[in-house]
Amino acid sequence: MTGGEVFTGSFTQQEPIPEEAIAAAVAVLRHGRLHRYNLAPGEAGEAALLEEEFAALTGARYCLAVASGGYALACALRAAGVAPGDAVLTNAFTLAPVPGAIASVGARPVLVEVTGDLVIDLDDLAAKAAASAAQVLMLSHMRGHLCDMDRCAALCRDLGLILIEDCAHTMGAAWNGTPSGRHGLFGCYSTQTYKHMNSGEGGLLVSDDAAAMARAVVLSGSYMLYPRHRAAPPPEAFEDARWDMPNISGRMDNLRAAILRPQLAGLADRRERWNARYRRLEAGLAGTPGLRLIPRPAAEDFVGSSFQALLPGWPPARMAALVAACAARGVEVKWFGAAEPQGFTSRHDHWRWLPRQDLPQTDRVLAGLIDLRLPLTFTLEDCDQIARIVRDEVGALASE
Ligand SMILES: *Cc1c(COP(=O)(O)O)cnc(C)c1O
Repeated sequence: MTGGEVFTGSFTQQEPIPEEAIAAAVAVLRHGRLHRYNLAPGEAGEAALLEEEFAALTGARYCLAVASGGYALACALRAAGVAPGDAVLTNAFTLAPVPGAIASVGARPVLVEVTGDLVIDLDDLAAKAAASAAQVLMLSHMRGHLCDMDRCAALCRDLGLILIEDCAHTMGAAWNGTPSGRHGLFGCYSTQTYKHMNSGEGGLLVSDDAAAMARAVVLSGSYMLYPRHRAAPPPEAFEDARWDMPNISGRMDNLRAAILRPQLAGLADRRERWNARYRRLEAGLAGTPGLRLIPRPAAEDFVGSSFQALLPGWPPARMAALVAACAARGVEVKWFGAAEPQGFTSRHDHWRWLPRQDLPQTDRVLAGLIDLRLPLTFTLEDCDQIARIVRDEVGALASE
C-alpha cells in the first residue's frame, strides 16, 4: 500500500427523491388510495399513469408496473409460457436475481459465457441453444453493457428463441437508437434504490404483444380489474388469460408509482450526468499499465451508472490485495473472483442450488474484473480522485 490521499464519499449514497415526487407521495398518503385499483370516480391512479408514461418513453404499446425487478423477470417468463423443467438460457455473468427468477418458475438456467467486453458470447449462445433445446433467452444487460443487439435479435430469430431482456442496468440506454428492452417479447426493469429510478422496490415490464401482456397483467394480480389499466391490451385480449393464468400477486402500489413518475422526466438528464462521471473515471484510468478498459461501441447509448475494468492474468491474491488497498483509501472496488459470495457480488459457482456448469471463459474474465458503483452524489472531482487512487494501487501491486 502506498498511503496517500483517501476518498471520503459514499459508494452507496443515492440522490434524494425529488421534491415533486415527495409531494406526489404525500398526496397519495393523504387520500389513502394506495392500492392501484382503489380509485375515486374518474381517477386514473398513479400506477396506471406511470405505465402509460413508461410505455410512451420506451415506445412500447403496453407496460405493467410490478413489485420488483425480479418479479418482472419471473412474470415475463411465465407469460412467455416457460414451464417447470424447461431450460432457459441466460448470462453466466449476471446478478443472482436473474437465475433466481428462472428458478422461481421451476425452470433450469443454462448459463452462457461472457466475453472480454462483458457481454454475452453469441457463439456460445448458439452452441448452448442447440445443446439444451431451450426456447427462451433471458438476456441480462449486466452492468449496462449491451451486446450487438442487431446480431443477437437476428440470432434469436434464427434459433427460434423468445427473447426477454433484463434491463435492470439499462433503463434509458439504447442500441442503434432502439431503447433497451425493445428487442424481444418483454423488456424488464427494476426501480430498486440502486438502479436508474428509485422507489425503494419496484419493477416494470414492457411489450408489444397483446396476448403475452394480458397474461402478465392477470399473473401480476389484477383480479378481473384489468380494464382499469391504461397501457394494457384491450379487454378482448384477456379472453384466454383471465381463465388460464393464476393470480401471483406482485402489483405495484400508487405510492411507489407516485414517487417514480416525476423521476421519468429526469431520466435523460441523469444519463448525461452518469456518463460525464463514467467518462471522467475512464479518462483518469486510461493508460494504467496492465488495466484493460472496456470498449463502448458507437451503437451503444449506455448509462454509466457503474464502471468496470479488467486486470487480465492477475492472480487471486493480488486482486484481493488491490480490493483491500483501495478500501483502505476509501474506494469500494468490487471483485467477482472472491471465494465467497459478498454483498451484491456472487458468481455462478456460488449458486450451489444450480447444477454446476463449466464456464472457463467466464471464470477467466471474472477473475480479473473490478467493478465500481458511480452514484450521482459523486462530483467529477470525486471521479478524478477515485481514478488516481485505483491507478496508484494497481501500479503499486503490478510492480510487486
Ligand atoms: C437488481 C437487478 C435485478 C432485480 O431487481 P430487483 O428489483 O432487486 O428484484 C435483476 N437483474 C439485475 C442485473 C439486477 O442488477
